[in-house]
Amino acid sequence: MSTRRKFLKNSLAATAGVGLVGTACAETSQTTVVRSNKPKALSTWVHGIEANEEAMRVMAEGGNALDGAEKGVMVVEADPKGSSVGLGGLPDRDGNVTLDACIMDHEGNAGSVCFLQNIKHPIAVARKVMEETPHVMLAGEGAKRFALAQGFAEENLLTESSKKAWEEWLKSAEYNPIINVENHDTIGLICQDTQGNLSGSCTTSGLAYKMHGRVGDSPIIGAGLFVDNDYGAAVATGMGELMMKTLGSFLVVELIRQGAAAQEACEDAIQRIVDKLDYKSFQVGYLAMDIAGNTGAYAIHPGFNYAEMVDGKNELIDAKSYLNG
Ligand code: ASP
Repeated sequence: MSTRRKFLKNSLAATAGVGLVGTACAETSQTTVVRSNKPKALSTWVHGIEANEEAMRVMAEGGNALDGAEKGVMVVEADPKGSSVGLGGLPDRDGNVTLDACIMDHEGNAGSVCFLQNIKHPIAVARKVMEETPHVMLAGEGAKRFALAQGFAEENLLTESSKKAWEEWLKSAEYNPIINVENHDTIGLICQDTQGNLSGSCTTSGLAYKMHGRVGDSPIIGAGLFVDNDYGAAVATGMGELMMKTLGSFLVVELIRQGAAAQEACEDAIQRIVDKLDYKSFQVGYLAMDIAGNTGAYAIHPGFNYAEMVDGKNELIDAKSYLNG
């Protein structure tokens, strides 16, 4: 733990509850982090470029960070060419496309769906769970029934090309749930709006050819996504089981709360996986943004990239990694 964080931890223990001044800034004994009110979008992988574009458009038209986070990833969910999110997602080993998603806003509200089938926009259903029910998470058939009752249409999400890929896989049916750097691309998106508020979203079809019923980190608040509007937000991608075992996104935000920079927090959360789990064959990537708009990104393996958009500039950036090839 860095000296700064040790110091902060001690001073927080001594002044329990006196960590935040108003809503404008988080004050520590050594630094004052000023909340940015410049709209910003940060998201996983190359499809983050189009998600950011839409999120920023929505926020420029008066939407808040929650609207940006929802609408941004919906573009990716609707794209049949993306084989790991929404329409066109690769199926489980039995040929079913099963979707996981969650969303969290600046007030700490959260909604989630998992093991949802035949609904193209799980993120929008997750938002409905958050806004229209007393619950956080709905699963499977219950989630679908809720979605239909909310007016979502039932549709086949298995595209011809994903079906072909699955049929090809069936010939060997070798189930080796190793994620390398090419075959995972959940979309996770963090937005900050003109009020300086943070919200986030995460949506995926999960691991290709997974066991029927398998749910990953992406719909789990604290694993695939976490937002604490007083400090920061984080999203995760990669082998979900590793983030679930370490509650990775919560950990990243908690480290920021304890005084870590967003980059340092992502690195420490990857280090936690390295210290505790069998990590070498798996990819995990974290993205984080603090309330000042500072961002961080880190992965186990090289190959994780992310998109960052601010001031009209939307850039694809290669994240640093623990292993170097
Ligand atoms: N995290 C997702 C899962 O384990 C996979 C991914 O990031 O593509 O379901």
